[in-house]
Amino acid sequence: MRLASYFMPTLKEDPSEAQIVSHRLMLRAGMIRQVSAGIYSWLPLGFRVLKKIEQITREEMDAAGCLELLMPTLQPADLWRESGRYDDYGKEMLRIRDRHDRDMVYGPTNEELITDIFRHSIKSYRDLPKNLYHIQWKFRDEVRPRFGIMRGREFFMKDGYSFDLDYDGALRSYFNMYLAYSRTFRRMGLSAIPVKAESGAIGGDLSHEFLILAETGESQLYYDQQITELDAESIAADADAETITQFLGRYYAAVDNKHTDWADSGVPQARRREHTGIEVGHIFYFGTKYSEPLGASVAGPDGSEVSVHMGSYGVGVSRLVGAIIEASHDSDGIVWPEAVAPFKVGLINLKPGDAACGDAARELYDGLRRAGIDVLYDDTEERAGAKFATMDLIGLPWQVTVGPKGLRGGTVEVKQRRNGDKEEVSLASALSHLSAA
Ligand code: ATP
Ligand code: MG
Repeated sequence: MRLASYFMPTLKEDPSEAQIVSHRLMLRAGMIRQVSAGIYSWLPLGFRVLKKIEQITREEMDAAGCLELLMPTLQPADLWRESGRYDDYGKEMLRIRDRHDRDMVYGPTNEELITDIFRHSIKSYRDLPKNLYHIQWKFRDEVRPRFGIMRGREFFMKDGYSFDLDYDGALRSYFNMYLAYSRTFRRMGLSAIPVKAESGAIGGDLSHEFLILAETGESQLYYDQQITELDAESIAADADAETITQFLGRYYAAVDNKHTDWADSGVPQARRREHTGIEVGHIFYFGTKYSEPLGASVAGPDGSEVSVHMGSYGVGVSRLVGAIIEASHDSDGIVWPEAVAPFKVGLINLKPGDAACGDAARELYDGLRRAGIDVLYDDTEERAGAKFATMDLIGLPWQVTVGPKGLRGGTVEVKQRRNGDKEEVSLASALSHLSAA
């Protein structure tokens, strides 16, 4: 991508409406634009990151055996009346009436809709287990939308739903998602801490929130340092219920209201940690809470009708864009983990008018693209200082600078954004260096 023809409306000044660093940097980097409170447009740079996060999530769900589908954003209110949540959900639910005076809602979540799909099609225990997910926009009319896209009203979520014949099966499905979530966040360069949580509005027996540590987190987290070293992969995905339950309760971690006193936690003094965190994912097991009222049952092995045991699993795809920035930035701007970076390489031509610089930069640009590397090529007439500042702001993992001085000696400069390390290398080795990196 050539910057001169790209659309990346960066800001020099800090926008006054942004209270936290990720919101500030997303606005300054031209990633998003607010439309109204808690509702944003995703501009090209932000959209690329959103899509990367979506794709990693999708790949990990697919690898865990989940099946992707797509449900609409608008749902009939009658489904929510069946579960009893039409009245319970309160003001966070956006209610709409169509031209025939039918009540609709903009989905804040999809338990009812997926259960409706299930009950019409799946009739036998032989078709279980099933885990269906989609990645779709949600709307919750939050009282206080804030922190940019981190607490939006319209936001992008991966929500998945599992269906099993009994508790043991459901627990395995739950643990399968627990593992998939750990992998998903790790691939995004995050270390997410699984915290046993209260199930809140959705209700149920078992629930974990995945939190990443950040100064601006809305939850206060208390945890045993050892939980960060927990290797979930050491347990077979098809382990029995007892092994899984034991594993899930192994190390202490609790948020705000669930934490009462360190003394009751059993965590030795030296391993106690307190930090604020951002919730990026949430998994629930809630048994037959929806399958019973909505009549989602299957014929069991002995022919009797059994209400299916369900779980639901959410990843805050759009929130993750902000959360990753909260976890990975410095005083100059964003520092993208490579897996989610909008481009891998930022190529700076210091003197676009100069023939040698133009040729060298184009050669690199073409070579990188041929190698399948996403590169943003700054071919604008801006002055050098502004170009460097913009590249640091948008945080691409690698920067390559082509300038007349270096070219006289046949070299370009390769800089790693994360640590600022710079190296003078030949054009050819810049290409192989970045292809290998
Ligand atoms: P929170 O406690 O932050 O309000 P929640 O518990 O209501 O979130 P869930 O129903 O568990 O949210 O939704 C799954 C995921 O969707 C959350 O873990 C979070 O990452 C994301 N999410 C929830 N609400 C919002 C929002 N208003 N804006 C952006 N992402 C959100
Ligand atoms: Mg939650």
